[in-house]
Amino acid sequence: MNAKNSIKLVDVEKAGKIKIDKKCSKCKKSICCVSINQKIPAPKTKEDFDHLLWQVSHDGINIFKDADGWFLYIETRCNHLLEGGVCGIYETRPWVCREYDSDFCELDESIEEASELFFSTHKKLEKYCKKRFKKWGKRFEIYD
Ligand code: SF4
Ligand code: SF4
Repeated sequence: MNAKNSIKLVDVEKAGKIKIDKKCSKCKKSICCVSINQKIPAPKTKEDFDHLLWQVSHDGINIFKDADGWFLYIETRCNHLLEGGVCGIYETRPWVCREYDSDFCELDESIEEASELFFSTHKKLEKYCKKRFKKWGKRFEIYD
């Protein structure tokens, strides 16, 4: 699954009571509401990967590839997520939140587990680049 950001966490009933999805109530970290995925063009050249190295060097930025392509996986908490996993704008939450299904979600399988490639650090991505490009270490020579 991709472009998933969040899910139906709660159902705000007319009486004002909050009914929390049973499965979500066990998901103490509200996993799907504390990150966003952003699709990116598939990196091909050394320059492309060098740019990704810069991005993954920042806190909360990860990069992954799955059957749908390449994505930034950005760890960032939604401003509408309230205590207890409650969505503060449940009635008007965005489509991506409405469409996300808790039947099989990130609680069952993390993005990292579901990905073909997953890079959480500069070191891990650099290791991959060295394998992918024979002359990776000489990529700056064109600028000298
Ligand atoms: S990751 Fe799954 S269980 Fe956790 S809040 Fe999202 S939909 Fe619910
Ligand atoms: S809007 Fe609500 S459901 Fe969507 S990510 Fe934020 S807290 Fe979660």
